[in-house]
Amino acid sequence: MGDPRRRVPRTDSLLADPRLAQAERELGRALVKSVISQAQQRARAGEIEPEQVAEHAIAALPTTAAGLRPVLNATGVVVHTNLGRAPLSRAALEAVVAAGGSTDVEFDLETGRRARRGRGALAALAEAVPAAGGVHVVNNNAAALLLTALALAPGKEIVLSRGELVEIGDGFRIPELLAATGSRLREVGTTNRTGARDYAEAIGPDTGFVLKVHPSNFQVTGFTSAAGVEELTGLGVPLVVDIGSGLLAPHPALPDEPDAATVLAAGANLVTASGDKLLGGPQAGLLLGEASLIERLRRHPTARALRVDKLTLAALEATLRGPAPPVAQALAADPVRLRERAERLAAQLPGAQAVDCVSAVGGGGAPGVELPSAAVSLPEASALPLRTGDPPVVGRLERGRCLLDLRTVDPADDEVLLAAVRRCSS
Ligand SMILES: *Cc1c(COP(=O)(O)O)cnc(C)c1O
Repeated sequence: MGDPRRRVPRTDSLLADPRLAQAERELGRALVKSVISQAQQRARAGEIEPEQVAEHAIAALPTTAAGLRPVLNATGVVVHTNLGRAPLSRAALEAVVAAGGSTDVEFDLETGRRARRGRGALAALAEAVPAAGGVHVVNNNAAALLLTALALAPGKEIVLSRGELVEIGDGFRIPELLAATGSRLREVGTTNRTGARDYAEAIGPDTGFVLKVHPSNFQVTGFTSAAGVEELTGLGVPLVVDIGSGLLAPHPALPDEPDAATVLAAGANLVTASGDKLLGGPQAGLLLGEASLIERLRRHPTARALRVDKLTLAALEATLRGPAPPVAQALAADPVRLRERAERLAAQLPGAQAVDCVSAVGGGGAPGVELPSAAVSLPEASALPLRTGDPPVVGRLERGRCLLDLRTVDPADDEVLLAAVRRCSS
């Protein structure tokens, strides 16, 4: 037989295998060749038999040409920043696929002329929040704040409370973002207490607008007070409220989370929010409020640099008009049903138990809110093989166990989860 390394099949003969040829058409030549070359190297290193190279290459082919891998989020963190925040609904995913080719995003098929870009998504947003006179969508909430500062406070002051100088995460600080526009920050009040008078005394000819920022990822308790939205109206300058999470209307499970409809009804002139937190849609920055202010933002020269693409517009419209997205379903999940699922799954997995646990909202939203949930509890050592398995399953380490919290797992994925765990323990 000679040296097995000489029997390693050549790349062109492997590419002639119909399954790898099909993969080449779907994923591209470079990607398939690199997978083949890794399998050949394993054969040369004696890790696999030369006859197994094709099978190993086929097994190692990615599902898509992008490196991002679908992951089962069993962390119990509903909006998990590191796992891509809100997972899109099936309706939103299908809308993205449909809009991915040529599409009438900016074209009227009746007249054959240019039409308002993203009019479907904008109409859906306006219908969802009737109190908003106008709406606009940009890349994310940070972009919404940036555009607001550039358009409404060029060379002027933005008045905000010292208790709302928020760092969102990964070093992103709202005051630094605002200062980068050239606007000046006029901090008022103290870390724990800021009243309406503090704002009123700071208003003058140099004021661009008053900004309230929702402290979305921390709580200050004890001797505290903050001026409410209704107390800050009538100051003669626009009142802008960054609500963070993107709730458009009150949510029964999240009584302390601000929402766009309530904040606008209380007198805010402009609201900014994220699309991919509690709204459960794509990454986007939502701007809702007085039509004249929205028009100033839309007309600002930098608006073009912050605009969203057709995929985002498609996903946003489908999130707003379609069935409840996964985030809404996870927030509404019934703990009794979650416990039943945990027991059914644990009974089929040796060494697993069903346990009660507590999930979190996450994603810089609703700090301190505890959602009762249920999990499949596994030995802590399962965590790594689960994360590196196929599909990867990300659980939560708690008191020496690896918990698979079912609140963030779609019930339709229970069998996939079961199979993934079984593969790791066999
Ligand atoms: C998350 C958050 C932001 C940033 O939003 P992105 O969409 O991530 O840019 C801004 N403000 C508040 C209050 C937030 O919670």
